[in-house]
Amino acid sequence: MIGSILIANRGEIAVRIIRSCRDMGIRSVAVYSEADRDSLHVKMADAAVCIGPPASADSYLNTQNIIAAACGSGCDAIHPGVGFLSENAQFAEDVTQAGLIFIGPDAATIRLVGDKVEARRTVKEAGIPFTPGSPGPIESPQEARRIASEIGYPVIIKAAAGGGGRGMRIVEREEEMEEAFTIASHEALSFFSNGTIYMEKYLRNPRHVEVQLLSDGKGAVVHLGERDCSVQKNHQKLIEESPSSALNTAQRERMCKDAVRLFKRLHYSGAGTVEFLVYEGKHYFMEVNARVQVEHPVSEAVSGIDIIKEQIRIAAGEHLGYTQKQLHISGYALECRINARTPGKISLFIPPLGPAVRVDTHLYTEGSVSPYYDPLAAKIIVHTDDRASGIKTMLRALQELEIRGITTNKDEQLTILTSKIFNSGTYGTDIYSRIFQE
Ligand code: ADP
Repeated sequence: MIGSILIANRGEIAVRIIRSCRDMGIRSVAVYSEADRDSLHVKMADAAVCIGPPASADSYLNTQNIIAAACGSGCDAIHPGVGFLSENAQFAEDVTQAGLIFIGPDAATIRLVGDKVEARRTVKEAGIPFTPGSPGPIESPQEARRIASEIGYPVIIKAAAGGGGRGMRIVEREEEMEEAFTIASHEALSFFSNGTIYMEKYLRNPRHVEVQLLSDGKGAVVHLGERDCSVQKNHQKLIEESPSSALNTAQRERMCKDAVRLFKRLHYSGAGTVEFLVYEGKHYFMEVNARVQVEHPVSEAVSGIDIIKEQIRIAAGEHLGYTQKQLHISGYALECRINARTPGKISLFIPPLGPAVRVDTHLYTEGSVSPYYDPLAAKIIVHTDDRASGIKTMLRALQELEIRGITTNKDEQLTILTSKIFNSGTYGTDIYSRIFQE
């Protein structure tokens, strides 16, 4: 039993977790930096503890202060949310060693899938398709050139410890390899404190499709269908939807089956995602995200499952208690991320309401968007019968949405939603640059 949870995060995801805690009768404890005193998650939680100055390194990444706050406030578990410490194996270990429950997979699993080279090895052993590439880390430009000539250009060099769309470099020709190798290793080291890099075949204009999974660590694994996250700007997701218009029923089944098989092999415990690229009708493993994701509401909408509640139940040692057959995935869900382009005080915030609309946000009138953290300001999610009506409902929602005091990407989202190419359902990850002709 978990009676009290410390949420080691901020912003909309902290608010989201507090809501599930409340639904479950669990006491929620927020943590906040000095810059977040007036944040919504602080107001909403049952208790709140200041954990340091504004810089993330001193507050939301300060494992000692966070664990001390959890122990000092009588919590029995920590939910890491997304970003920050959510995929930090050492943190998961420290939490457990402090006698607390970490709401997420165990440290060994986080470590394994956090190393993309190791993850690809596991996937290979499981017989799941993955993009051709280097069998392990690449050590020199010579080795990089040799492997690239085997798999064929273009290739993409990635940081083994990478994430968030950073630390990747596309190499079109052999002449570019030397420089790309050097820059990629430096970037890997400076972004992720680990200079290990590897190589994959670069697929031109694929779809990004991922499978949401729940796994109780006791043998039961279910999927909640897929999310298509192909609408990206600089490899960062902007719009997510389910089901994906890129898959037919047979392809969907194959992909979901592979994802379930991987989680079974990992003895995974908790919620997680397997990301794939879909290219010419086939899916290729890309990575595992060992945490809840920003776009989880899309899967909640089509499945009716509260993923945060399931994370908490699984962490408490409960069995999943249902099978794949008992799940009903229905309708169409669409999420638009509203990002702040500037920090500042919110002079007016009017969220969209009405049928089929959900808003996850930490914004409120007189609140503010901090310059210190992630610019995600709100997620608008709609759930309808089909894609065409979902897009219409999203347009209605975005037209209702009003955020004054800061600038956001709302108009850009409207442009995408009304574009011919997005409405056609036939596009790839280059859709953003095609619409905005970058
Ligand atoms: P991160 O962990 O940083 O999010 P990912 O490996 O998930 O990085 O990749 C992010 C995005 O980069 C993908 O959604 C896709 O658009 C692009 N990408 C990654 N690998 C490839 C590849 N092999 N071919 C084409 N695009 C890729």
